Amino acid sequence: MALTQCPSCNKRISSKVKECPHCQFVLAGQSKDEMERESHRLRQEKSDKLVSRSMLALLIAIAAFTYLFLQQPMPDTWQYGVSVGSMVAGLVWFVINRVQLVFLKKKKR
Ligand SMILES: [Zn+2]
Repeated sequence: MALTQCPSCNKRISSKVKECPHCQFVLAGQSKDEMERESHRLRQEKSDKLVSRSMLALLIAIAAFTYLFLQQPMPDTWQYGVSVGSMVAGLVWFVINRVQLVFLKKKKR
């Protein structure tokens, strides 16, 4: 059984499989050109998704920050807890998506 590399996720896979078990990338019946195009499209899709998700996360963080800034809830109210919580969560989510995006771009050769 020969091993080859998945053109989409670069993991080692058997050359006999029709579909990558890691990323479900379809390998069978495609020319090298088609495979490259497909892998590029998949990566583009993934990066678009990451970009829009990070924008959403940033929006949540900004909305929570705006609420905190304008309403200035008391530190022991649930409003304060919720807005600080979503601000932190939004920022963390944003950073996670951005880091994933950087790794995705790095894989592109
Ligand atoms: Zn794969």
